[in-house]
Amino acid sequence: MRYISTRGEAPALGFEDVLLTGLATDGGLYVPESLPHFSLEEIRSWRGLPYSELAFKVMHPFVDDAIPADDFRKMLDETYSVFAHKAVAPLVQLDTNEWVMELFRGPTLAFKDFALQLLGRLLDYVLEKRKQHVVIMGATSGDTGSAAIEGCRRCEHVDIFILHPHQRVSEVQRRQMTTVQGDNIHNIAVRGNFDDCQRMVKESFGNQSFLGGKTQLAAVNSINWARIMAQIVYYFHASLALGGPDRSMAFSVPTGNFGDIFAGYLAKKMGLPISQLVIATNRNDILHRFMSGNKYEQHQLEHTLSPSMDIMVSSNFERLLFDLHGRDGLAVKTLLENAAKGPVSIEDYRWKHARKLFDSDAVDDKTTCDTIREIYEQNEYLLDPHTAIGVRAARNCRRDPAVPMITLGTAHPAKFPDAVAESGLTVEPPLPAHMADLFEREERYTVLDNDISGVQEFIARHWKNA
Ligand SMILES: *Cc1c(COP(=O)(O)O)cnc(C)c1O
Repeated sequence: MRYISTRGEAPALGFEDVLLTGLATDGGLYVPESLPHFSLEEIRSWRGLPYSELAFKVMHPFVDDAIPADDFRKMLDETYSVFAHKAVAPLVQLDTNEWVMELFRGPTLAFKDFALQLLGRLLDYVLEKRKQHVVIMGATSGDTGSAAIEGCRRCEHVDIFILHPHQRVSEVQRRQMTTVQGDNIHNIAVRGNFDDCQRMVKESFGNQSFLGGKTQLAAVNSINWARIMAQIVYYFHASLALGGPDRSMAFSVPTGNFGDIFAGYLAKKMGLPISQLVIATNRNDILHRFMSGNKYEQHQLEHTLSPSMDIMVSSNFERLLFDLHGRDGLAVKTLLENAAKGPVSIEDYRWKHARKLFDSDAVDDKTTCDTIREIYEQNEYLLDPHTAIGVRAARNCRRDPAVPMITLGTAHPAKFPDAVAESGLTVEPPLPAHMADLFEREERYTVLDNDISGVQEFIARHWKNA
C-alpha cells in the first residue's frame, strides 16, 4: 500500500515511512493511494470475531507487507487486551434503535486509546527493525497527552516529551500523565498557556538542530495516518453487533479535528453499509457552518464544557476536501492557502456532494447539560459532555428511525465531573476500579519557564542516549 499527500507535491511513501512522518513535505496529510474494498459476504463472515481479530481483517490491507501477518496479529492482541472490557467497545442501548458505543474503556478513558495504544507498538516495532530512535514531542491541553504517554510507556526506541500548560489542566488530566512510570516518559509543565506549548512544539519540528542529529522528532497527533486507520475498525464492530452488514447503520460522532468521523467515512467507502454520518460539534462549529452554508471560516476559539472538541480548524478535514476535489492536490493546496487568509467556499456541486455524505449539528453548553440530565433521568446512564453532544445531534438529525443510530461514546464521564455537576445532577461519576487510586499515585513532572531554548535543552539532556 502506498500513501500520497493531499497537496499533491510530496513523494508517495510506504506504510513505515508514513508512520514515522508527521506532515508531508508539501504541508499536506498522507492518505492511502487506494482503499481496500470488502464485499458484503466477506464482512458477514467476520460476525462474532473477537475485536482484535476483526481489527486484523480491517487493517491488514493498509499495513500490507510492512509487518508480517503473525507479528501484526500479536500486536493487535496485546493492544486490545489492555482495555477494561471483554468486548473492547461495548454497545449500550438508550432507546429503540438508539445506541452508544463505549470507546472509553482503555487506559486513559477516552477513545484516543484505540489508536494510540496501537501507534506506540507500531512505532517500536518499526524502529526496532530499523535500529532507529525517535523523540515524540507534543503539546496537550488534555486527552491526547495522556493517551500518547500510555501508548508509549513500554516503547524501547521512543522517548516522549509532553508539554502541558502549568496549572491549567484539570487534576485528573494532569495525574493521568504524570503518574505513568517509565524512564522514557517526560512531562514538562510550561509556565505559559496551551498556545505557548504548541508554538514550541511547532518550532522544534521546524528546526531540530537542538537534538544534534542523533535522533529525530516524531508526531502522534491526529494527522498521523495510523490513528485514522485504527479508528475504522470500530465502525465495523458496531455494525456487525447490530445486524450489519445486512442492514445499514447511522453514526453520530462528537467531532473536533475530524479524525474520528473521517474514519467512519472510510469504513463506508470500504463497503460497510452506512446510511448516515452526523458531524456533532460544540460551539466551535466551523464544520457545521461549512456544511450548512458552504463557508469555511475560522472564528475565535471558545472554551466549552467539552474541551477536547475546542478547535478553530479541523486538521483532518483536509483529507475529505482532497476527495471532494477529485483528489486534485493542487486544488486543495490553493483552497487551504486561501483559507488561512479568510473565508473560502467550494464549488456548489462539490458542497452538495459533501451534504449527501454528512449531516451536522452544533450543540451549546446549556443543551449539552440538558442532554446529560435528560439521558440520566430516562436511563440512569451518565454521559460525558462530548458524548452528550453526539447523542443530541443524533436525535436532532436522525433521518430514519428504522436504522440503528449509534453515537460514539468518546470519553468516560469521570473525566469531566464539572459538566456533570453543571447539569444539575447530584451523582458523582466514580473513576473505574483500575484508576481508583489515581489521586494517591506518585507524580513526576518538571516545571520549566516559557522559553523554548530551556525546553529544548531539557529534551536534549534527557532523552535515552543523550
Ligand atoms: C479528541 C476527542 C474528540 C474529537 O475527536 P476528533 O477525532 O478530533 O474529531 C471528541 N471527544 C473526545 C473525548 C476527545 O478526546
